[in-house]
Amino acid sequence: MSSVQKPTQIQGIPFASIAEEFGTPVYVYDGEKITSQVKAIQNAFSSIPLKIKYATKALSNINILKLIKKAGAGIDAVSVEEVRLGMMAGFKAEEIMYTPSGVGFEEIEEAVALGVMINLDSIPLMRQFGDKYGDSVPACIRINPHIMAGGNLKISTGHKASKFGISVDMLPEILEVVKEKQLKIVGLHIHTGSDILDAEIFLRGANVLFDAAKQFPDLRFIDCGGGFKVAYKAGDPYTDIDEVGEKVSKAFRDFCDRYGKELELWLEPGKFLVSESGYFLVKANVVKKSPSITFVGVDSGLNHLIRPMMYDAYHDVYALNNPEGNEATYNVVGYICETDTIAAERQMGEVKAGDILVIKNAGAYGYSMASNYNSRLRPAEVLVWEGRAQLIRKRETFEDITHNQVILNL
Ligand SMILES: *Cc1c(COP(=O)(O)O)cnc(C)c1O
Repeated sequence: MSSVQKPTQIQGIPFASIAEEFGTPVYVYDGEKITSQVKAIQNAFSSIPLKIKYATKALSNINILKLIKKAGAGIDAVSVEEVRLGMMAGFKAEEIMYTPSGVGFEEIEEAVALGVMINLDSIPLMRQFGDKYGDSVPACIRINPHIMAGGNLKISTGHKASKFGISVDMLPEILEVVKEKQLKIVGLHIHTGSDILDAEIFLRGANVLFDAAKQFPDLRFIDCGGGFKVAYKAGDPYTDIDEVGEKVSKAFRDFCDRYGKELELWLEPGKFLVSESGYFLVKANVVKKSPSITFVGVDSGLNHLIRPMMYDAYHDVYALNNPEGNEATYNVVGYICETDTIAAERQMGEVKAGDILVIKNAGAYGYSMASNYNSRLRPAEVLVWEGRAQLIRKRETFEDITHNQVILNL
């Protein structure tokens, strides 16, 4: 089963009035959907000590982070800036995991000074870290488990040729460095990629860590990363979180028995928590017929939502004034001077210039990947929470495009 709904409101607030009040294009988030997704994971893993570390990069507005905190989760940050955003949202250092990928050592030092858990992702970094901190700063190691999984290669992070983590085949070398530098390793981590469906894949990843864990006596947690899949269209399979929870919890309890200590299980969902909460409202600027295709040109493009072009991602799109309609077939395209097809050959209610279109699953990797390409302004963000729609990020102005430019006297 998967979602086929085409909502025209959130918590009783019509999208039409949100578009009118805040203008388009605008990202709208349903706060209650976010907290209910957090709860779904908490329930699925309620039999073990679970810590959720929301992958901040999916959607990093500080208000969203505050909701995540309210729901009882921590965060995973992939840059020191995300660490700081988390702290601004009220997370304590110990609630933040920092998972860098090939960053400079200054950034590691900065993160250590901020007091967050560091996830070491290379042998050279382990050495450098050990030279500076020895056993005085506990750390985690990111293992590459050699598992090919995920929606497509760009979002697969745990296979053999991936840049992420330290190959599980190099465990002997990892152990040597731990011993030589007297590192205090309190966590082992994998993140296999995004859009992983199968409980079995999670288990395979978890088992790689459980096996490696025997060699690390000081562990406090095992971090199995994120990547839970949500439905993007009718009939799409999605991660059955209860099934994953049941299977992984059982394997985890058995592992803890063997290890001889009750550890915490950490998970880093991004997409699963925020994707479905988000709706991107855009306006049709023009409906343009060519002999074979009818285009709807909207007031947005790959500058605001790059997933369809970058990942060939499917996003449901519908006409707000006739969501269930299917009278016409359209290619919904952006205004960027590049082929930025948001949705191809979609049956929708008839669209006229000025109509609002709703793009679904816009919560994850939507705004957070937006840019100023074509010198366009980034859109506004609105949060619906406790029955109120509130602006949580202003639409950019032309000043935002120019204020960092240094204009020479040429
Ligand atoms: C991106 C990322 C995640 C989240 O991935 P989703 O597919 O959004 O769940 C988790 N952990 C790390 C280290 C990541 O880089």
